[in-house]
Amino acid sequence: MFAKIIIDQDAKALDRVFEYSVPQDMTVEVGERVIVPFGKRNLQGFIVGLEEKAEFDESKIKPILQRIDGFAVIKKEMLSLMFFMADKLHLKLASILRLFLPSEMRTGQVKELIVRYVKLAKNFQSPSARAKKQLEIVKFLKDNGRQKFADVSAKFGYAPLSALVKSGTVLVENEQENRTPVFDEMKNEKRILTPLQQRAVDTICENKTYLLHGVTGSGKTEVYMNLIERRLEQGKTALMLVPEISLTPQVLANFKARFGDKVALIHSGLSAGERFDEWKRIFFGQAKVVVGARSAIFTPIENLGIIIIDEEHEQSYVSESNPRYDTHMIAEFRREYNSCTLVLGSATPSIESYAKAIDGEYQLVEMPVRVNGMEMPKIVVIDMLMEMRQGNNQIFSIPLIYELKNVIEQKKQAMIFINRRGFSSFQRCRNCGYVAKCTDCDVSLVYHRAENRLKCHYCGKRYRALDVCPSCGSKDIKQGAIGTERVVEELHKLFPDVRILRMDNDTTARKNAHRQILNEFRNTKPAILVGTQMIAKGHDFPDCVLVGIVDADQSLYQSDYRSIERTFQLITQVAGRAGRSSMQGRVILQTYSPRHYVYRFASNYDYKGFFKKEANLRKVTNFPPYARIVRILFTHEDEKVVAQDCKVCYNKVKEIKEQYPQDFVYLDVMKAPLNKIKNKFRYQILMRFKLDKADEIEKKIYDCVDEKCKSSVFFEINPNNLS
Ligand code: ADP
Ligand code: ZN
Ligand code: ZN
Repeated sequence: MFAKIIIDQDAKALDRVFEYSVPQDMTVEVGERVIVPFGKRNLQGFIVGLEEKAEFDESKIKPILQRIDGFAVIKKEMLSLMFFMADKLHLKLASILRLFLPSEMRTGQVKELIVRYVKLAKNFQSPSARAKKQLEIVKFLKDNGRQKFADVSAKFGYAPLSALVKSGTVLVENEQENRTPVFDEMKNEKRILTPLQQRAVDTICENKTYLLHGVTGSGKTEVYMNLIERRLEQGKTALMLVPEISLTPQVLANFKARFGDKVALIHSGLSAGERFDEWKRIFFGQAKVVVGARSAIFTPIENLGIIIIDEEHEQSYVSESNPRYDTHMIAEFRREYNSCTLVLGSATPSIESYAKAIDGEYQLVEMPVRVNGMEMPKIVVIDMLMEMRQGNNQIFSIPLIYELKNVIEQKKQAMIFINRRGFSSFQRCRNCGYVAKCTDCDVSLVYHRAENRLKCHYCGKRYRALDVCPSCGSKDIKQGAIGTERVVEELHKLFPDVRILRMDNDTTARKNAHRQILNEFRNTKPAILVGTQMIAKGHDFPDCVLVGIVDADQSLYQSDYRSIERTFQLITQVAGRAGRSSMQGRVILQTYSPRHYVYRFASNYDYKGFFKKEANLRKVTNFPPYARIVRILFTHEDEKVVAQDCKVCYNKVKEIKEQYPQDFVYLDVMKAPLNKIKNKFRYQILMRFKLDKADEIEKKIYDCVDEKCKSSVFFEINPNNLS
């Protein structure tokens, strides 16, 4: 017997299938991990096929040395997925397989959790009357049966317990246990569905893809849960993806309350051990419902009845680092493989997905009103230039301050959204224009007041804050655009007695900090929560009646084609946090471009109008989803090398362009806008072509990278971020 094996090394030269022989006394399965000799080393590999005959000279084929797990860790579906991804995304086989296993499994660093138990021996000898503690332990075990060693030891002391073990009165048993993540307690509140929800649940039943367009507060989560319940009743399983930042304790507790031990949870907050154990519960079929962030799409759950992607428009569903993949594409593959249902849910679907729904590729299901019949919060657009002309140079407009005062008087809550952490986006000398920049990255540094440091948000490097300009000695230092810290400081000045909380990457770095901040906010009235994107999603605070958007333009003028779409989405999501229970909510949106169409559509909650305008714009200017953008990004420490590699590739792409003169709309080569990150220089080839022959052209583009290219190369299709 011969095995086709992929070596678990992320190297281009090893990116193919090798043949090994299976020793007479060994039986192996496709999908198993094994150790094989490779050159002078012994390496880990995956069996991806078994054949009676070898393709190569059998006498030269080496044997498999050893099995690793003793069972197939890569299931059939995942093997097919691997070949699909390799073909579509041109990724290395080994790097794909790595996505399928918890990393701790590959590195072998996680041990199974062994818990020690103690119980009384059958014919135990009672300890002498003088050993009081020992007697207490014996009585305790008699009354309560088997107990955890650690618990008994904590209660009665380590010494008497080990004396009992030594004398044979008490026996120790070791057991392997699963580490399960902690959840907040929550009641299982099953609700009677509204007619709209019921219709959605009844409609979404076939083997196809549905786009669930439901406004914020329309009760999408309840629909998801009912859909999952139905699949469980049919003996099937479910996979539900949620963006990492929406995986709040509240959301998790909700699922746990509803589905109990059937739920497995995959997200980045888990310890390595927890993640490994949850993966095992999924692998062996104990878990029937998987709830997780993006990477959960690769969990080996079998017999899928439904896949749900909540907040489907979120950028985080496209992985930004290698290997790059798009979760929607993987979900489509798994839907087809399992003949199941795929649901994409959002209050603000991506232009791409909505276009597919209009073309009939997805079936559109709409929930246009909130569950409790509450009106959507009123969005008031404030012209900040006007505020300035009227003499207000503060970061808060007069209407926002007025509304905040109201909230505080009524002992309610408000959220203030500002999508930048830190105090100010940069420090600049007013005298000579000097801006503090990172030495390793081509970006300006962000000032953090709490630590009085400048920080690079790309590499994390810290620098001393400026009090005098290092270039001209001036003390006149200007702070750049405001961040969360600055907003909190200004609020403190205005409302010294009100509790003000901050939630961003800096305040939530510690484990459980996230939960603590949200719990405190929930239990404090009045209170103001200041935060980045983290506060924009999923939270349900009944007493939050006001949302302030300090700088709505922040995401508007970024140099990529999705920036307007993203602004619309952000406003709608943030606004959706207000007025979710009895009181109508209010949103104060501050902008310097009050007449931009995005604010007109967003403040009227007119998604369809926005879609029409935006889709039309993209059609006439040849942007996705009506054209395809490909970026090839080259990075290397040596700028000469990266420039050269990029140029060689560019010349080949130019030849392709000459073959398809009708299709190319744009092609150019340049330094990336962020020319250097972490001491690596970045160059790029950027192109755009029409859709008719897009797949054909894309395939050819992948072959343009030269064999001798020394730079790291990343291919991105319709990238989210062109920096
Ligand atoms: P969405 O995700 O669409 O923004 P949610 O799922 O957060 O909306 O639901 C909004 C609120 O309505 C939540 O507090 C939820 O518990 C509640 N809710 C959902 N469905 C029902 C229902 N059928 N009856 C009563 N309350 C409901
Ligand atoms: Zn200066
Ligand atoms: Zn840096």
